[in-house]
Amino acid sequence: MSKNNLLTVLILAGLVLGVLVGQFVLYDPIPDHRIDDAHWTKQMGDLVLIRPLTLMIIPLILVSVVSGVTRIGDPSKLGVVGGATVTYYLATMFAAVILGAILVTTIRPGAGLPPDTVAALKAEGVERYAGSETVRAAAETAQSTTLGEAWLNILRQMVPSNIVEEMANTRALGVIVFAVLIGLAIAAGGERTRQAAAFFDAMFEAMMLLVRWIIWLTPIGVFMLAAWTVGKIGLGELLAPLGRYMLVVLVGLAIHGFITLPAVLYVFTRVNPYRFMWRMRRALMTAFGTDSSSATLPVTIDNAEREGECSRRASNFVLPLGATVNMDGTALYEAVAVVFLFQLYGVTLSLDELVIVVITATLAAIGAAGIPSAGLVTMVIVIAAVNGSLAATGGASAPQLPIAAIGIILGVDRILDMCRTTINVWGDAVGAKIITRLAPDEADDRGKAMA
Ligand code: ASP
Repeated sequence: MSKNNLLTVLILAGLVLGVLVGQFVLYDPIPDHRIDDAHWTKQMGDLVLIRPLTLMIIPLILVSVVSGVTRIGDPSKLGVVGGATVTYYLATMFAAVILGAILVTTIRPGAGLPPDTVAALKAEGVERYAGSETVRAAAETAQSTTLGEAWLNILRQMVPSNIVEEMANTRALGVIVFAVLIGLAIAAGGERTRQAAAFFDAMFEAMMLLVRWIIWLTPIGVFMLAAWTVGKIGLGELLAPLGRYMLVVLVGLAIHGFITLPAVLYVFTRVNPYRFMWRMRRALMTAFGTDSSSATLPVTIDNAEREGECSRRASNFVLPLGATVNMDGTALYEAVAVVFLFQLYGVTLSLDELVIVVITATLAAIGAAGIPSAGLVTMVIVIAAVNGSLAATGGASAPQLPIAAIGIILGVDRILDMCRTTINVWGDAVGAKIITRLAPDEADDRGKAMA
């Protein structure tokens, strides 16, 4: 068995065993007895996998983007690649969010539930929200952010003033911008900067070697994290009142992941999308297990270049940017979740408000970091925008969705997060494959590092 196949089998075994142990050993039907974030499975999962992968993120983004951009070299060529990348991100995110909006308004998972169930869900949600310190704090900050400020925040990150501060706060966007500029300067410097180019190339090789060592921890890490998630939530939730909501999110993600993105990939590359998906399995399973596209990034880059046959020029640039801004799964999920909560509160949204949902959910997904539950928090921007529109048209008596309502879906979020993160990473991989056509590697690219 090849090393890659062995790793696949081990990761899969870790996931399956994790789910079984979570459900049959750790899960307790009595809510007060359920495991929490302090449980050893979560602590071990963080120690064994999340922290080592997270350690790699910022240095890897820096060297990978510098070396990718240096190889592309010419600023006008980079402009074409960058333009195509951003167009791809926006188009697929819009496709995902529109699909989510259509599904949730036609299936209406939040309508028609017995009044007692709705009242119980609301009360439980408000209580859970109040009890969750971090979510509450982040949601309240996001709530006081106007739409203009949300854009300005993204723009500010793109024009960093202190690169060490950006790195220390894991703000990838600023690091990417900095790395693009350095890469362009190195390419423009020709002979004078040749050594810098070789340095970043060689550092990239070294970082990928390190990543390949860390990857062997994935099976243990995903076992711990899957056991913790299922032990905390329980698979029975899929049958509970929130089951229909979860199903709408899952069906939407499945349509986007198995039909839309493969179709886009096929149209632009004529590559067999499902074979490519199979080749990217290591990154997809890691995304599912870790719940974080940023933590998965080192695996995604390695996987895309080795098995996915994506060019280094494309993936070194497209994947780091994608892990930060391209979140198809999150965009779809945010639209479904917000409309579902309004339905639960008896508010039917007009077409105008649905358009607001589509636009703000895309923005909120772009703004979400590639970490667990980020989408749950930035969703507050969508809720605030819809509430604002309802108030503008309906006056003081207009119905409003309390922010605390996100407590209703908080409990089951992790399971959905695993799935949407997988789609986020799949979207990035498809992007890298498509952009490979625009920026293929040249014959001497792989040897350059050794020069
Ligand atoms: N966990 C997701 C990711 O890392 C973000 C989110 O939707 O919460 O891609």
